[in-house]
Amino acid sequence: MQAANTGKRTVISIRPVFDSDRPKVYLETYGCQMNVNDSEVVVAIMQKAGYSVTKNIGDANLILINTCSVRDNAEQRVWGRLEYFRQEKKKRPNVSIGLIGCMAERLKESLLENNIVDVVVGPDAYRELPKLVEKTESGQKGINVLLSRDETYSDISPVRLDKTGVTAFISIMRGCNNVCAFCVVPYTRGGERSRNPETVLRELKELSDNGYREVTLLGQNVDSYSWKDVTFAGLLAMVAESAPEMRVRFSTSHPRDMTDDVLKTMAKYGNICNYIHLPVQSGSSAILQSMNRKYTREEYLQRIKTIREIMPDCAVSTDIIAGFCGETQKDHEDTLSLMREVGYDFAYMFKYSERPNTKAARHFKDDVPEDVKIRRLTEIIELQSELSLTSHKKDVGSIVEVLVEDTSKRSENDLCGRTPQNKTVVFPKGNNKIGDLVKIKITDCSQATLKGFAISGLLT
Ligand code: SF4
Repeated sequence: MQAANTGKRTVISIRPVFDSDRPKVYLETYGCQMNVNDSEVVVAIMQKAGYSVTKNIGDANLILINTCSVRDNAEQRVWGRLEYFRQEKKKRPNVSIGLIGCMAERLKESLLENNIVDVVVGPDAYRELPKLVEKTESGQKGINVLLSRDETYSDISPVRLDKTGVTAFISIMRGCNNVCAFCVVPYTRGGERSRNPETVLRELKELSDNGYREVTLLGQNVDSYSWKDVTFAGLLAMVAESAPEMRVRFSTSHPRDMTDDVLKTMAKYGNICNYIHLPVQSGSSAILQSMNRKYTREEYLQRIKTIREIMPDCAVSTDIIAGFCGETQKDHEDTLSLMREVGYDFAYMFKYSERPNTKAARHFKDDVPEDVKIRRLTEIIELQSELSLTSHKKDVGSIVEVLVEDTSKRSENDLCGRTPQNKTVVFPKGNNKIGDLVKIKITDCSQATLKGFAISGLLT
């Protein structure tokens, strides 16, 4: 980490080092936000071990793939990349290839049998990476897939790999104790452990010192965050108070564990965004029970009702699985009717993909035919498109606050960013720039995006 003396105070640089003299690591990341943040921890560990970062595969001494196992197609993508890296290895036999993350944890030693992969490291063993990579220099293989009860990497300042330096993640905890029947996470990331709030505030200050404008607190289930007597609501308040100039978001919440205190804390602090990602997975209580989600349809809807009572303008998104084991047409219709009742702003929607060794794989038959899964998923996606469009139409004519995150993908004359409700807005650049907080008058929308123009005067 390089310290810049700004006359008044020392700012720790948290950006990657691109140094031609050092050995170079090239890193590809797949999967969730947690994996994105883990890759930033991995780069910090490798930089401390003398490596620098490269975006060019051909220059890399070490190629790392941070993998995801949440669905079969996530792993299939990695197998495809490994075939590509097999060619790289043929051209440059001395390059080391490492497979890390959830797939490494799930498949372990079997990944060393394909003459491509030299190092396999699970999500809790990244501190071992430099030593294991060193072994490969003498032609040996390296592996560590031990899960930990207390590893949180809380002493490590992640090296931020994002392009624009506006938004960043802080992992406040690791692992999950919920064991939902369809999910591999408890097997690939282990049990829950929370970070000392002081280390979260240290990382927050590093982000603020480096000009970041928004932070997202990450956990598989943030609502079960717990450090001595500090609950998630307590941590959220500490973060909001410590960086009043920064927007605060968090993900992922759990319907059974979310407390009214969290909602009241959100309502109390203006810099905590009025947006909640609250996975429901299914609208049928029978399916929720076999999924081991530990709440019913009615309890979920009650949670939504409480959210709207405490924060009437809070946006809500969710996760939905179509075609879980034993799902009937009636169960599917329960999911559609719940979506209508909630009126989600956005949703991540998937068809059930059986994951080995999960509770569902061990106890249930994956009995919903593929064509039925696809038809039900299509109906869910179509309904959500309507709901998202309805949500966006309500914003037309309003003035929203947008944090500019990047240039629009469609036109370099346009900028894009998100509202506190996590809605994407595209608008003509004018004199605004990335990192600005801008007032936008919304004039039009699609189901995916809001469109408008900046009205005078930056917010800050
Ligand atoms: S809450 Fe359930 S779905 Fe989410 S990570 Fe934990 S086990 Fe997986």
